[in-house]
Amino acid sequence: MIDFQAIEDQYALPLFPKRGITLVKGKNARLWDDKGNEYIDCMGGQGVVNIGHCNDKVAEAIARQAQQLITCTGSFYSDQRALLIKKLVDITPANLNKVFLCNSGAESVEGAIKFARLSTGKTEFICAMRSFHGRTMGALSATFNPKYREPFEPLIPGFHFVPYNNIEKVEEKINDKTAAVMLEMVQGEGGVHLGDADFFKQISRLCEEKNILLIIDEVQTGFCRTGKLFAIEHFNLQPDILCLAKAMAGGLPIGAVLCSDKIDVSFGSHGTTFGGNPLVAAAANAAIDFMIEENLAGQAAEKGNYFAEKFTKIELEKVREFRQIGLMIGIELKEKVQPYITALQEKGVLVIPAGATVLRLLPPLTINKEDLDKVIEKIAEVLS
Ligand SMILES: *Cc1c(COP(=O)(O)O)cnc(C)c1O
Repeated sequence: MIDFQAIEDQYALPLFPKRGITLVKGKNARLWDDKGNEYIDCMGGQGVVNIGHCNDKVAEAIARQAQQLITCTGSFYSDQRALLIKKLVDITPANLNKVFLCNSGAESVEGAIKFARLSTGKTEFICAMRSFHGRTMGALSATFNPKYREPFEPLIPGFHFVPYNNIEKVEEKINDKTAAVMLEMVQGEGGVHLGDADFFKQISRLCEEKNILLIIDEVQTGFCRTGKLFAIEHFNLQPDILCLAKAMAGGLPIGAVLCSDKIDVSFGSHGTTFGGNPLVAAAANAAIDFMIEENLAGQAAEKGNYFAEKFTKIELEKVREFRQIGLMIGIELKEKVQPYITALQEKGVLVIPAGATVLRLLPPLTINKEDLDKVIEKIAEVLS
């Protein structure tokens, strides 16, 4: 038998701490390794698999489109791209009426930064402490974690960081060079910290008043994860730019930047080779239709509350705080989480960390209650 792990260890750049198993198959909330072991997936491919692994509708759409047309540059019109951008405009706030399609979350943030600079002629951004917006140089400039930033400094100048949910600190940092405020609705990588309603209401007012753009990064919170199609709906927020990616195409790489009338860019100022290609657009169309037809937002809200109610009834000495919105769940421990993540994997449950002390769960929103029960049981077991 081919030793896949040895090959990756030898030839892949060692950027990911490996978890010791080789995944070969997935269906809905289950994954299998090459030895036939079965896992309940509460990582969801880092928040990608909202509609479940190998969703039938998406698999069919990919197979169909692969026979039809796979690539089509942005210079030509494309049926699937047209359907997708119309769909995105229809399901997001009314002020967002233009779309740029790209290939990842970081790329959507790069686009947002460039569009904000072009449209305002200004160069400074206000971001939050604990923010995560991606690993490319622009997105990294907006990302807080010094561990990710410092090896690559100097980054793009003009990015300021203020405590999340603190309107006064945002206000203090605004000057006549400020192009935009960029925020997540829930800080995912930063530890599952929820944004509060009042803060976002004030941010909205402040940006309007000072003529500053509001960029919301819903790469992780978008597409039903928090119990709404988009987390901005919790607070009726209307950003000027909305960044989307992760779950949008059922697992294929995609990103989108949605823009209001305030965004004004010209031919040639940005571009992409693969962005909005018909294959991925067809997958995204099928994925988004599935989310809406199955009321995945409602399912996420209901299952998230079910999990929270059941989990918080269990007395667990090691838990410092439980944070949850929809099926975006953070269990902050009083100690390092890594040993518990390993122990859970051995018991057939895959979870991810968010920082050193938070156990993060981003299961497929299609997961069933029996699997959620099992996840709760296993977490309680390893933490007892
Ligand atoms: C994952 C993530 C990104 C980066 O997306 P990639 O596709 O990994 O480049 C950006 N913003 C947020 C909020 C994310 O969770």
